[in-house]
Amino acid sequence: MRLVLISPKGPLYRHRGGIFKKNLRYAPLTLSTLAALVPPEMDVEITIIDEGVMEVDAAQIEADLVGMTVITGTAPRAYALARQLRNRGIPVVLGGPHITLIPEDAQPHADTIVVGYAEESWPRLLRDFVAGRMQPRYDQAAGLSLAGMPFPKRELMRRGSYITTHVFEATRACIHRCDFCVVPTAWGTKPLQKPVEEVVADIRQHYAKRIIFIDLNLIADREYAAQLFEALIPLKVSWFGLSTTLLGRDRPLLELAARSGCSGLLMGFESITPANLKESKKGFNSPGAYKELVNLLHQYKITLMACFTFGMDHDTPDIFLKTAKFAVDAAIDLPRFAIVTPFPNTGLYKRLMEEGRILTHDWELYDGQHVVFQPAQMSAQELYRGHEQAWKYAYSWGNIARRFWGARIQMPVWMVTNLGYRFYAHHLHDFYNCDWITGRS
Ligand code: SF4
Repeated sequence: MRLVLISPKGPLYRHRGGIFKKNLRYAPLTLSTLAALVPPEMDVEITIIDEGVMEVDAAQIEADLVGMTVITGTAPRAYALARQLRNRGIPVVLGGPHITLIPEDAQPHADTIVVGYAEESWPRLLRDFVAGRMQPRYDQAAGLSLAGMPFPKRELMRRGSYITTHVFEATRACIHRCDFCVVPTAWGTKPLQKPVEEVVADIRQHYAKRIIFIDLNLIADREYAAQLFEALIPLKVSWFGLSTTLLGRDRPLLELAARSGCSGLLMGFESITPANLKESKKGFNSPGAYKELVNLLHQYKITLMACFTFGMDHDTPDIFLKTAKFAVDAAIDLPRFAIVTPFPNTGLYKRLMEEGRILTHDWELYDGQHVVFQPAQMSAQELYRGHEQAWKYAYSWGNIARRFWGARIQMPVWMVTNLGYRFYAHHLHDFYNCDWITGRS
């Protein structure tokens, strides 16, 4: 059987090569995980296509079955590919975050959909397919456990296309309920964890020394995080991962993270306005303590990528420069700025729908770069322009230098990533297709 697994391209990659090209891309884990979950007794030839790094022509695909993983921003592309493939008689399976958020949107575009995590349902689906009894929908099994799962088949990812394939995952889901976040809506608030010894064995088998954890909140369960960090110490790895700002309030855990090789963290600062954080159910973030947190991380030689989101209801037109100036003053290594996106069926989406403020359901624009709703205290155009202004301010040469002198760590990586983001800041408009808002032709 020939199985083709596709990650369709999103808006950032709609132009050849994407914004970041190879520079800042690491190999995604979803397709290699799905490949590993193919039942061992099945004779399957697997091809992986990540449209983020290669072109795909649906007319050229030869397969008995095609599976696609879909986020909201890639849904239109996935549906278009599915249409072409199904017209040629190739059955299509759709799964992933968008399908889990809004299954009824995807169902008409697929022969079958996978809702929730696929660890149990995907092998079941494949066996059903071979037996000629594939069902229209497969849901995540109750009481799913991540223990004993096969390691992702990273060797199937195209070599040379990524900065690293040493990408790992220890946990899934998050205990928080931020109302703009896909995670609690799609997967609930009960974290799933791989046994620490299995995570370590996976890292060891690749002799990985510089690794990325893609876990959405590595410290969601403090006890598990502490066990994982302890187990990483003997491996002498350097790792980058995601955490909430709460790590700054737990000095013993932060110290353990640093000793385990943590060299970089991505944290969602979201807003410097407490009222925004409270309203979006992320009140555990304290803007008043952000600077202290950045200093603390720098003391432990941890680089910080801090994400800010614009367009929350308490944002006024002066928020963009205020936030970007704050990021420069605080010497945040890599500030990132996004436009708040009401992903389907999240708390934010439901509220904006009730208030009649959703401007479009073109899912391709649901990517954190486009304005898809009516902001409360500014026009949609002001929101877009202000977001662009923040990027340009934070990544001007002078402000890159200012942030560098404030941080003074990780020079080579720091500079490469900053240059990558400077490029991004000055090419945002090239990737924007919201002409009705920007007024651009
Ligand atoms: S802490 Fe992060 S991952 Fe967890 S719900 Fe909030 S935004 Fe999502």
